[in-house]
Amino acid sequence: MAVIIDGKAISAKVREEVRKETEKMTVKPGLAVVIVGEDPASKVYVRNKAKACGEVGFYSEVHELPENTSSEELLTLVDKLNSDDKIDGILVQLPLPKHLDEKTVINAISPDKDVDAFHPVNVGKIMIGDYDFLPCTPAGVMRLLEETGIQVAGKNCVVVGRSNIVGKPQAMLLLQKNGTVTVCHSKTKDLVEECRRADILVVAIGKAKLIGADYIKPGATVIDVGMNRDENGKLCGDVDFESVKDAAGAITPVPGGVGPMTIAMLMKNTLRAAQKAGKK
Ligand code: NDP
Repeated sequence: MAVIIDGKAISAKVREEVRKETEKMTVKPGLAVVIVGEDPASKVYVRNKAKACGEVGFYSEVHELPENTSSEELLTLVDKLNSDDKIDGILVQLPLPKHLDEKTVINAISPDKDVDAFHPVNVGKIMIGDYDFLPCTPAGVMRLLEETGIQVAGKNCVVVGRSNIVGKPQAMLLLQKNGTVTVCHSKTKDLVEECRRADILVVAIGKAKLIGADYIKPGATVIDVGMNRDENGKLCGDVDFESVKDAAGAITPVPGGVGPMTIAMLMKNTLRAAQKAGKK
């Protein structure tokens, strides 16, 4: 039976680090979360982010805009937040309604306040290894590996998924830690074979329980980023936890693995943005 990597406990440790740093500051870090429309899952994420801000002692604002908000209205708000000293981090909850262009909105956020690290300037900085912020989910995965004492250097690391939010930056971070990295996607010829070479397997595809025990090299570390609903409507990952847990050396559960780390790393990024802005 694999070691179960406890994302809840590790994320609590990260949030406590942020809370302690914040306690020492006279001007508190501030996060603005913007949500457009009524997507129920997005509303839950936004509520959780605001709650996490309160717990670490941040100032926070939630801007709930109606579904029919125009691009101009949204960009005006982003602009206002860019020049608001109370606000150090701006997060526009994705996905946006179809009539709004995500790229235009991301590009409008000041790179100094882009705590999601989605702005091209921050993406470029990650490529050259000279960054201020890391995207929250891949950064959370790296912290899970570190806290579990799993060395990346020299290991065969396989990332399944190549999105801009998870897969691509994840591959880059593993490479920066001297892993030998393979990136797989929907056109990969033999996914089982590729995955079976992984000492560290990170899966971010959005397909419930696709990765079974036959994909796993015995003793491998398996990190499951996926968040899906199974046939009974229960939250589950991209990895079939029940079958993989006996083959893997270490594994993250869903829920309670990568998910809680994403918000914890968002708090860390907001603190960093505030410190960079000169708040003490
Ligand atoms: P995207 O849909 O943007 O990307 C999915 C990627 O998986 C694509 O690169 C796609 O390949 C690849 N893929 C899809 N099906 C297969 C397959 N059968 N075999 C191999 N590769 C495949 O998803 P995201 O990266 O945004 O999210 C992935 C998952 O992670 C989702 O379940 C999401 O909910 C979850 N997530 C969880 C977070 C957390 O905090 N825990 C945060 C963010 C995401 P191609 O490029 O060829 O289409």
